[in-house]
Amino acid sequence: MAVPERRCTVLAYIGLGSNLDDPRAQLCRAIHELAGLPGCTLRARSSLYATAPLGPVAQPEFVNAVAVLTTKLTPLALLGALQGIERDHGRVRDGARWGPRTLDLDLLLYGDWQLQLPGLTLPHPEMARRAFVLVPLAEIAPAGLLIPGQGDLAGLLAARDDRDGIRPLPDGAPTGAAGPSPLSSR
Ligand code: ADP
Ligand code: MG
Repeated sequence: MAVPERRCTVLAYIGLGSNLDDPRAQLCRAIHELAGLPGCTLRARSSLYATAPLGPVAQPEFVNAVAVLTTKLTPLALLGALQGIERDHGRVRDGARWGPRTLDLDLLLYGDWQLQLPGLTLPHPEMARRAFVLVPLAEIAPAGLLIPGQGDLAGLLAARDDRDGIRPLPDGAPTGAAGPSPLSSR
């Protein structure tokens, strides 16, 4: 079946995380796979960051990053593609949130869209509360980026007192331009 595509491209920001089975390699492979998705072009990716796990489960440190694509995929098709990549990385959804995972791919932003569907909320509902998302996002986002319904990125980041715990990894240098300027190129 053909993957649903739109005529115009939109900038989509993807949050990546892993804390199992060589997390850095999981993220590097996933970024390569994002770049190869149909109707998508990788525009930039952040450094890799080491971050302490959240929540009640004792588990290894996470590696996190953010990538930005231009995409012709619809939001649901893109989310489906992200979940396909998660499955290829051996991600098992056993219902436990906050637990260890080989790969987590979150659709943070899809242009300036705001959506609330059963399996997809845009912008990602937790992103403003997660320094491990905001720090790498700020590295590749244009100055003054607005998170629809949540506020401007700089303000959200300044409000996070856990942001200093997010450590860039020495061999995880970013690629791509300093940040594509328009949020949406529709
Ligand atoms: P989290 O990423 O918050 O740690 P999960 O990866 O387990 O949690 O995702 C839980 C559910 O969140 C998924 O079943 C997915 O359908 C839903 N979801 C809603 N909005 C989004 C989004 N913007 N990006 C990714 N998943 C989302
Ligand atoms: Mg997720």
